[in-house]
Amino acid sequence: MKITVVGAGIVGCAIAHELASRGVRVHLVDSRGVGRGATRASAGILAPHIEGHIPELRDLAARSLAMYDEFVRRIEHDSRRTIEYRRSGTLQVALDESEAAALSASARALAATGVQCTALDGEAARRLEPALPDRVTAGLVLPAHGYVGPTPLMDALADAARARGVQMSVSAVTGIEGGTTACVTTEHETIESDGVVVATGSWPVPPRVADAPRVTPIRGQLVQLRSERAVASRVLWGQACYVVPWTDGTVLVGATVEDVGFDERSTAEGVRGLLNAATALVPSLGHAQFEEVRVGLRPKAVDELPIIGRSESMARVFFALGHYRNGVLLAPLTASLMADLVIDQRERAELSLVRPGRLTPA
Ligand SMILES: Cc1cc2nc3c(=O)[nH]c(=O)nc-3n(C[C@H](O)[C@H](O)[C@H](O)COP(=O)(O)OP(=O)(O)OC[C@H]3O[C@@H](n4cnc5c(N)ncnc54)[C@H](O)[C@@H]3O)c2cc1C
Repeated sequence: MKITVVGAGIVGCAIAHELASRGVRVHLVDSRGVGRGATRASAGILAPHIEGHIPELRDLAARSLAMYDEFVRRIEHDSRRTIEYRRSGTLQVALDESEAAALSASARALAATGVQCTALDGEAARRLEPALPDRVTAGLVLPAHGYVGPTPLMDALADAARARGVQMSVSAVTGIEGGTTACVTTEHETIESDGVVVATGSWPVPPRVADAPRVTPIRGQLVQLRSERAVASRVLWGQACYVVPWTDGTVLVGATVEDVGFDERSTAEGVRGLLNAATALVPSLGHAQFEEVRVGLRPKAVDELPIIGRSESMARVFFALGHYRNGVLLAPLTASLMADLVIDQRERAELSLVRPGRLTPA
């Protein structure tokens, strides 16, 4: 079996690697190269119980998190690289009484659904993370959460995919046809295969797939700092920003959420807001070295769930789109669902929540 994957972000690369690991010949095509879309700007946080704003998303994300140790192990093995990946938890931080009340409501809701978490008063939160300011009023620890370094992950995933025989081309796909074979047209060539997986993130599905789902780009800006002082031993999550401290001194601070179309520029206002929020949460970050600002377009479906499944108009075409704020977290589950569907025609139960047809008006 041969499959073409369009889009080499985390979603397309994870699918390509999974398919190839199961014996499929894979051709992966991207107009920019590997990991140059939204994935490049991601903070890599793995936090289903903070980011899963709706129960269906939370369930899918928690399932994917449960697959992460094995996902990273397989990529490290195939690529012979090491990936920055830690399940050191998250600490949500309240800086006033109303934020403290919201955290205590979250703690009760999580405990009611059996999720392990620990609510802290301000003093206990500061004992746990001494870089927090005196004004901290409360904290909430979720020990199962963690993060992965998106750049090391993508470098390793690309090598792992190549090691499994995935062919890669840098070229814009201009058309998709699905007859007796699937036919992908690029600027440079025509690729025939048994099926096409469209993983183009925020960008439109290339013509002419009649039921192409609509995805909206939501810009996110993230700054990368470097700190010689210890920042924290887990991801910190405040109302206005989050802070991801890596083991090598890298600190990621994110992220803006902006509905501005296909505009990938960074802005003074965006960066200023992130730096102000970061130094309010961890005052010593004022001394950190500023390294860069990254911008990505998060692919958002109208109901904020991903879109994973077969096209209803072209049986050889499959969609893996709309991963919005959780594409890195949802990658292992997406790849596994897609491989079962494409190779074995197996429609797992999770697909009923994310099927593309749910977004088509009746
Ligand atoms: C600031 C920020 C912070 C984030 N933080 C997190 C986080 O902490 N945790 C988390 O899980 N997620 C996070 N996300 C979300 C996550 O980054 C996205 O959900 C994920 O990267 C989407 O991956 P993707 O592969 O679908 O899309 P992309 O990474 O955008 O990849 C799509 C690819 O398709 C290619 N493409 C498009 N059209 C064509 C075409 N016609 N021909 C050829 N190639 C094409 C593009 O060039 C691109 O490389 C964050 C996002 C942002 C912006």
